[in-house]
Amino acid sequence: MSKIAVVTGGTRGIGRAICKSLKDDGFTVVAIYAGNEEKARSFTDECGIPAYKVDVGDHEAVLAGCKKIEEDVGPIDIVVNNAGITRDGTLLKMSYEEWDDVMRINLGGCFNMAKATFAGMKDRKWGRIINIGSINGQAGQYGQVNYAAAKSGIHGFTKALAQEGARSGITVNAIAPGYIDTDMVAAVPENVLEKIVARIPVGRLGQAEEIARGVSFLASEDGGFVTGSTLSINGGQHMY
Ligand code: NDP
Repeated sequence: MSKIAVVTGGTRGIGRAICKSLKDDGFTVVAIYAGNEEKARSFTDECGIPAYKVDVGDHEAVLAGCKKIEEDVGPIDIVVNNAGITRDGTLLKMSYEEWDDVMRINLGGCFNMAKATFAGMKDRKWGRIINIGSINGQAGQYGQVNYAAAKSGIHGFTKALAQEGARSGITVNAIAPGYIDTDMVAAVPENVLEKIVARIPVGRLGQAEEIARGVSFLASEDGGFVTGSTLSINGGQHMY
């Protein structure tokens, strides 16, 4: 039986490309999404991958959702914590709710998914947890104290959990994408985006598939000696 991979935020953008790549690699793939039913339906129709509606920021919902996926599909071997949101604004304009939503979904979601699946991976002595961070968690970004803190937290979470999984055949890694051409970046005003692209050494936005290939490597047997690492896929932007 092929190993089972769950990709949060799998129905759109980077997550969708990750789902397709892992399916091409021979894994059985399941996507999790928040509530955009239209996108979820077209994703399942086009990719032949089931999608479960689970709020990754809701601890109980994640435990119940993963239990249901395991009953329906089988034990979860690979988790890709990709679901993420932005609620940008400078500190003085940011509400507590905007802070809390981003922390709860982007960082809390990683904890919730790991809590639901780590024990099973330990029992089976094999697992992969791949967390999608961000260059803005590494470098910070004006107007994103919530997002930068959550993504920076993901990098610490990754290194800590990697140590807990290392003797049990579980690798835990992060990928820090730079600016990728998805709905999230489409929301950035054009004049701001032009300035961002000017700072990317390769001179263009990344494609979701370029993140997905990194996930495929970390999920593979070939990635078995890589743990607690962050792979920067950002067109060289981390050098500036
Ligand atoms: P998109 O906004 O295109 O897609 C987000 C996905 O996450 C959707 O499937 C959405 O579901 C899902 N999602 C959102 N909130 C929740 C939730 N509470 N529970 C479950 N699923 C949820 O995002 P991207 O593809 O652009 O980004 C993917 C990841 O990559 C994010 O973590 C992002 O922070 C990170 N990243 C993106 C960069 C970029 O340039 N795009 C750069 C660096 C990092 P639904 O469709 O139902 O709303």
